Amino acid sequence: MARVEFTNPFRCEGAWLRGAIHVHTTASDGLLSPEQALIAYKARGYDFVVIADHWRLTPVDDVAPSVGIIAIPGEELSVGRSLAGTSMHVVAVGLSEELSRERASGWDAQRAIDAVREGGGEALIAHPSWSDLCFADLLGLEGYLGVEVYNTNCDVSAGKGWSWSQWLGLLSSGKLVYGVAADDAHWGSGEHSRLDAFGGWVLVKAGSADADSVLRALRSGMFYSSTGPEILDVEVRGDEVVVRTSPVRAVTFLSREGHGRRYEAVSGGALTEVRHGLSGRERFVVVACEDWSGRVAWTNPMRVLPD
Ligand SMILES: [Zn+2]
Ligand SMILES: [Zn+2]
Repeated sequence: MARVEFTNPFRCEGAWLRGAIHVHTTASDGLLSPEQALIAYKARGYDFVVIADHWRLTPVDDVAPSVGIIAIPGEELSVGRSLAGTSMHVVAVGLSEELSRERASGWDAQRAIDAVREGGGEALIAHPSWSDLCFADLLGLEGYLGVEVYNTNCDVSAGKGWSWSQWLGLLSSGKLVYGVAADDAHWGSGEHSRLDAFGGWVLVKAGSADADSVLRALRSGMFYSSTGPEILDVEVRGDEVVVRTSPVRAVTFLSREGHGRRYEAVSGGALTEVRHGLSGRERFVVVACEDWSGRVAWTNPMRVLPD
């Protein structure tokens, strides 16, 4: 038998809002102005955008209302040194005061996370694989909301978009941080690469359509992330988890060591509903739904305890 602790966005009141959580503009090294970036996301059906320019808290209040999209102020900081000797990028979401490069001189990642939270924001660890981070780099850090499990720009520009191993290492170690999908859009695309936008997003279940409600939902884990598929429902019934999804080729219950399980559609079929019984030895479960193009939607972690 198992006992499950899960903040379940599929079983609470509110509306789903689709958002891009890490976007650059001409205020740093992006190619679109803040207004152009918001218009582009609005045209693709997004409800909110976090503008996170490098070392710049880009003003968004003057442009967002006319575009008709929720804009959340953010910033991206590059600080510290990883075990590989690289710097660590921290995305601040919902920041109220700019953190300048000068002020952050000499900061390590923990100091940056603390400063983001002191400034009213939440911190995400950007693109662990692109930064050559291992989960040990992140295990000792406290107070961050989660990690980017997928980053579109790092995928299309360097083939280092996915960071499953870093996230699963943290979860297996008992650190149940959230895992998000982000674009990190800079709006460039070369001859042999696709645009680094609209490739990874979060869907938050928010009480109302405003920045404060989105932030509250992010803080409490009331969201899931996707690069394609749609998760329609997750139900926890005792020690059984039932997942309904848009048609996919595989549904995986990721867990510690080999305590999870992968279900695949066989002989040309598709999966739209999977039931999985928990043993109580999992410690955590993340449900990942993968389509035929390798695009994935995943939940935040459920904590599983022996009953
Ligand atoms: Zn970065
Ligand atoms: Zn970035």
